[in-house]
Amino acid sequence: MNLNVKVTLFFVSITAVLLAVLIAISLYAFRSFSIASATEHIRTASEIVRVHLTESMINGVIDKRERFLQRLVEVQGLKSARVMRSPDVEKQFGKGLSVESAADDIERRVLSEGKAHFELTTVGDETVFRGTIPYIATSSGSPNCLQCHQVAEGTVLGAVSMSMSIDALKEKALFTVAGIAGVVTLFAVLLILLLRRLLRPISDTANAVEEAVQRALRGDFKAQVQQRTTDEIGQIAGDMNRLLTFLDDGLNRIGSNVARLTERTPAPGENLLTATIDMVEGLTNAAHFKQAIEEDETKAEIYQRLSRTLQHEFELAEFSLYEISNNKKQMKGIIVDGEIADTCRWCDPQILVRPEACRVRRTGHIVDGIGHPEICYSFRPPAEVGERRHVCFPVIQSGAVGSVVQLLVTPAEQDKLESRIPFINVYLREAAPVLETKRQMESLRDSTLTDPMTGLNNRRFLEEYVETLVASVQRKRSHAAILMLDLDYFKMVNDTYGHDAGDAVLKALSTVLKQSVRASDLVIRYGGEEFLIILIDTVGEAAERVADNIRVAVENLKVQVAGIVLQKTISIGISDFPTDSETFWQAVKFADVALYQAKERGRNRIIRFTPDMWSDTKEY
Ligand code: GH3
Ligand code: MG
Ligand code: MG
Repeated sequence: MNLNVKVTLFFVSITAVLLAVLIAISLYAFRSFSIASATEHIRTASEIVRVHLTESMINGVIDKRERFLQRLVEVQGLKSARVMRSPDVEKQFGKGLSVESAADDIERRVLSEGKAHFELTTVGDETVFRGTIPYIATSSGSPNCLQCHQVAEGTVLGAVSMSMSIDALKEKALFTVAGIAGVVTLFAVLLILLLRRLLRPISDTANAVEEAVQRALRGDFKAQVQQRTTDEIGQIAGDMNRLLTFLDDGLNRIGSNVARLTERTPAPGENLLTATIDMVEGLTNAAHFKQAIEEDETKAEIYQRLSRTLQHEFELAEFSLYEISNNKKQMKGIIVDGEIADTCRWCDPQILVRPEACRVRRTGHIVDGIGHPEICYSFRPPAEVGERRHVCFPVIQSGAVGSVVQLLVTPAEQDKLESRIPFINVYLREAAPVLETKRQMESLRDSTLTDPMTGLNNRRFLEEYVETLVASVQRKRSHAAILMLDLDYFKMVNDTYGHDAGDAVLKALSTVLKQSVRASDLVIRYGGEEFLIILIDTVGEAAERVADNIRVAVENLKVQVAGIVLQKTISIGISDFPTDSETFWQAVKFADVALYQAKERGRNRIIRFTPDMWSDTKEY
């Protein structure tokens, strides 16, 4: 209800109450006045009747009293007038005329009690005032009543009953009251109209301010309040306009800056305020995310943090994170639906070995399966989960797609996901350079720890790894067999066929060595054509068997270089850690001693270290 309506209602109700009170008081006053004047009128008439009857009795013309009363009624504006005798008078003078005895209880009571009675009654639709006044015997005056009437003083001699219509009076009263009420109403209406006119700028401004605030709450700050006056109300309107312009300007600037960052423009009709709050909040969270991942140590930690963010911040339960291998030939699953997993749940597993089958990996663009569910032929959700929509994001590292983030929702949730895409993009943009750095660091580290020609770990790797290895062996109270290998007469290959032929033999040998041991075992290029193999959890004969298998495999290895076939043999020395030595490097040394023995004893053989070899060696 606006101010104008309220003020009008207030004054209308005040006026109504005042009018009602005024009318009630006026009517009451008129009633009292009418009764008083009618009473007086009837008393005067009764006195005239009394005087006339007394005179008539004295003059002996009492018989004419009926005519007198009729004339009195005509003259006095009465409706009726009737005299009656009391029982005492009847006893002395007889019953008199037929109309001269008491007609009802009131008259009988007045005759017996000697007290006047007045009342207002309705006859038909006429309001009538009736008065019954007794005549009391008195000794005062001359002649006095007691000269003729043989009664005691104070006796009721008779009464006169008169009635008069007060309709005319009533009509006049109503007319007057109506006139007063009319004037008051007119005055009140004029007053209300004047007030409304005075209040109009206030109420219009209040309405306009209210509307502007409502629009502002809906995020629209474009409303302006019309300035109608130059007083305080006008000032409020002006200040409101300045505030709105300021807010609109500020929010637009924040909004457009934020939109540039999120690449998200507010939709037309969108609540600018909540959209801006959302965007700023999203950016702040993304900034915190970036700070956190920068302090993470490994890529795995970053992927897990990203996974938790997808789960908690974006309320997604189903998603996959993939990483593309450095040589771009493979794609590896990292996390599936929040769990670490190297599998592929939502796509054709062929993408793992043929990454070009993944549309994101191929195009480097977001793949939006919400707008186009059939966009990627590799998207293949398990049949039992029902319908799913997917959106896949590339995470660009070193100018190429380094990782892929795939999000899945039911068709019911797709709108929610679509609205969050710009924010998810911000997170991935923040993650990309950090992942890139980590990847570069990891490959740099790999390069210092691997031998580029064979792809095997180098001696530096062993130096770094040895602590972990020893701790693991000791914890498990287990053994590690150490194999030291050296190609026989290798120098000859170089000398005869050239260095490249030698390199080819070394590469082929590396493959054979890798294939001859378990994935958990270590194959290390220890020197030029010397290799060290550590067989984890392997002892005694088992180690010798592996060594001999290697020896035989090398013996059978045919390396084709520039049209010729090279075949070499290898010698292997074996020691056991910690049986031969509590010190790892000492055990390596012992394997080397055994290798020396193998060479000594004619090459192409395996020799297990025995303590006597060490004392023999020391003698040299
Ligand atoms: P044996 O071990 O049986 O006593 O005789 P050998 O001829 O193999 O002697 P040695 O182990 O001392 O020779 C090592 C040779 O291996 C020297 C070097 O020419 C060659 N060599 C070492 N590293 C490389 C490499 O990376 N590439 C090539 N092509 N040859 C290498
Ligand atoms: Mg050698
Ligand atoms: Mg050699």
